[in-house]
Amino acid sequence: MFGSIEAGGTKFVCGVGTGPADLRTMQFPTTTPEATLAIAIQFLRQECRGELKAVGIGSFGPIDLHSTSLTFGYVTSTPKPGWQNYNLAGTVRDALDVPVGFDTDVDAAALGEARWGAAQNLTDFLYLTIGTGIGGGAIINGRVLHGLVHPEMGHIRVPHDLARDPFPGGCPYHGDCLEGLASGPAMQERWGKAAQDLPSDHPAWTLEAHYLAHGLANWVLTLSPQRILLGGGVLRQAHLFGRIRQDLVGLLNGYVRATEVMRDIDQYVVPPQLGGRAGVLGGLVLAEQAYTRLDRE
Ligand code: ADP
Ligand code: ZN
Repeated sequence: MFGSIEAGGTKFVCGVGTGPADLRTMQFPTTTPEATLAIAIQFLRQECRGELKAVGIGSFGPIDLHSTSLTFGYVTSTPKPGWQNYNLAGTVRDALDVPVGFDTDVDAAALGEARWGAAQNLTDFLYLTIGTGIGGGAIINGRVLHGLVHPEMGHIRVPHDLARDPFPGGCPYHGDCLEGLASGPAMQERWGKAAQDLPSDHPAWTLEAHYLAHGLANWVLTLSPQRILLGGGVLRQAHLFGRIRQDLVGLLNGYVRATEVMRDIDQYVVPPQLGGRAGVLGGLVLAEQAYTRLDRE
């Protein structure tokens, strides 16, 4: 039996099981690190009754993923009060005394989709979430891409025409990066209304699709993914998929000669199949990886 923690900035989702068929979950709001982790640890203990083999954590960030670093497993420079330099993975390992796998929330979701969802049998794909922020996980050559730290795909630059869109952007670090222009809160600030309250014929959605398609075009051209999964609260607007696909095809303009982005775009930019459970299921994959690693050592 594996345990999973999806550590989000607003809520935690914990789960135990081996996959979608037997997953049992619990969710609760994120408060202080101590109080939040106490609930998570108690849930895992109670549900597993000594059968727990390993735990996987998919966390909001930025986080330290370098296994040789002194602060491996920490949440690092987050603006979230109380969570700066918090030893998330270490706290769970010390409390439960099992191997702990640790990765970003979006990497965990990508792993869940790779195992059970919309990215099965792919070696190269992206999982993006467009919600409170914009985050992306990349699986490249069958492995999660970490690199220097981990990708921060939401913070890339896209063309911003100030005549068309005078909103300066809401990212505290970069102003009008993609997240600053196209996250849920950015939409709310620009239009004075929560994204979910904007009607589907509102010009907000044309602009939103335009920005997201620019992001996608950049990732298609740099990472060459075989598929792109788009999740998060903002993509609950199903009509966005058609607009984004159309804009993406227009931006690529026939240059990337693959049927996936020319003829089969409807299967190229898709929603995650596991919905809101991708992250917590991905945590089980991280747990399994941590367990197998220990086995080999
Ligand atoms: P988080 O990013 O915190 O994990 P979500 O992915 O649900 O959570 O993202 C929250 C954002 O998504 C908010 O900015 C909210 O306005 C927006 N959102 C939630 N539901 C919808 C919806 N049905 N349509 C459009 N936007 C939505
Ligand atoms: Zn930014």
